[in-house]
Amino acid sequence: MRLTVLASSSRANGYLLHNQREALVIEAGVSLLQVTKALNFRLGLVKGCVVTHRHRDHARYVRQYADAGITVLAPGDVFEGIHHRYHPILPGKGYKLGGFKIIPFEVTHDVPCFGYLIDHPDTGRVLFLTDTYLCEYQFPDLNQIIIEANYADDILEENIISGIEHLSKRERLLTSHMELETSKAVLMAQDLSDVQNIILTHLSDRNSDEERFVNEINAVTRKPVYAAKAELSIDLTLKPY
Ligand SMILES: [Zn+2]
Ligand SMILES: [Zn+2]
Repeated sequence: MRLTVLASSSRANGYLLHNQREALVIEAGVSLLQVTKALNFRLGLVKGCVVTHRHRDHARYVRQYADAGITVLAPGDVFEGIHHRYHPILPGKGYKLGGFKIIPFEVTHDVPCFGYLIDHPDTGRVLFLTDTYLCEYQFPDLNQIIIEANYADDILEENIISGIEHLSKRERLLTSHMELETSKAVLMAQDLSDVQNIILTHLSDRNSDEERFVNEINAVTRKPVYAAKAELSIDLTLKPY
């Protein structure tokens, strides 16, 4: 099973978990054409799509996906104005799309937002967590972690001082997105003993530093760490211990 990143930023988010038999689309921020191309035009592999929240960088193409017959799981408000094939879901309940078993949980963004635990025999348990400024849960038996690392407070502060960012940006980020030290704390609160890969997502264009983020997360977790960007594709197949 591979994770292929179609887009990962505040402009658009789209990720694919896929093997030769099936695929799960995570987020609907890229067009169906892009998804189709990434799957070598085998759209029939798609068992469904999970969307975290209604912001356009995550949900812009929900209607397009639903119109194409793809089952989309998302918080209810994502479907406002869309009247068919929608599946508002509840936190803590279990859902199944092909071989993917999915449990949504609530996170803290500036609109209703879910994280997801995704179980598949090929990958083990995948945590998908984005667009939240904190997360105090401990998740048992994780094997792969896909987590937001949006900004570093010191880079943001420098950008505010030099006028690149407005002061109000800090207020918004503090209550909506995950700062590097928070990403570290969330990771270190988990039992990482069976975690095989950590993928950092949604890095801010201006307020992050890809190499530093990867190195710092690697230094605290001692796991392989990747920064998500378009066309990154990594093998998430669960390796025997
Ligand atoms: Zn976002
Ligand atoms: Zn958002």
